[in-house]
Amino acid sequence: MKDAITISNTITFMFLLFLINILLPTKANLVNRGVILLEARLCVNGCRHVEDVNHLFLSCPIFGALWPLVTAWLGVEGVDPQHISDHFLQFIRYAGGLKLRRSFFHLIWLQCVWVLWNERNDRIFKNRQSSLPQMLDKVKSSSLLWLKASNVVLVLVVLS
Ligand SMILES: [Zn+2]
Repeated sequence: MKDAITISNTITFMFLLFLINILLPTKANLVNRGVILLEARLCVNGCRHVEDVNHLFLSCPIFGALWPLVTAWLGVEGVDPQHISDHFLQFIRYAGGLKLRRSFFHLIWLQCVWVLWNERNDRIFKNRQSSLPQMLDKVKSSSLLWLKASNVVLVLVVLS
C-alpha cells in the first residue's frame, strides 16, 4: 500500500511536471504563444540560451548551480539529468526507500524550482538578484516553513 501511495505521488508529480513544461510562462512558451517576440526568448542571465523549462531550472550555468549546493546540503551526490522529469525522478531516488525522506525530497525539489522561478522573476521585473548562497538559504528557510505548516495541519487533523 505504501509503495502504491509513493508511486501515485510520483505519477501526480510527473503530470505536474508535464503541465509545468507546457503552461509555465517561460520565454520559450511565450514565444510559442505569440506573446513576446522571438528576439526576447533568451535567458535573463545572459548565457545566450533559450529560456525553456529545462534551461531555466537545470542547465543554466547560473540557476543550475543551485542544485549541487542543495544536494551537498542534503548529503547526496550523483549525476543530475538535464530534462526536468528525469531530474525530478533522480532527485527522489537520492532519498532512498523511506517514505518520509522521499516526501521531504519532493518538498525540497519543489522549493528549489519555486526559488528559481521567483529569482528569475525578480531579475526580469525588479532588476534585483540574489546570490547562490542566498537562494540556498531561501530553499532551506521555505522548506522549514512548509514542514512547520505541515506539522500544524497534522496536529489539527489529529485534534479534530
Ligand atoms: Zn541561462
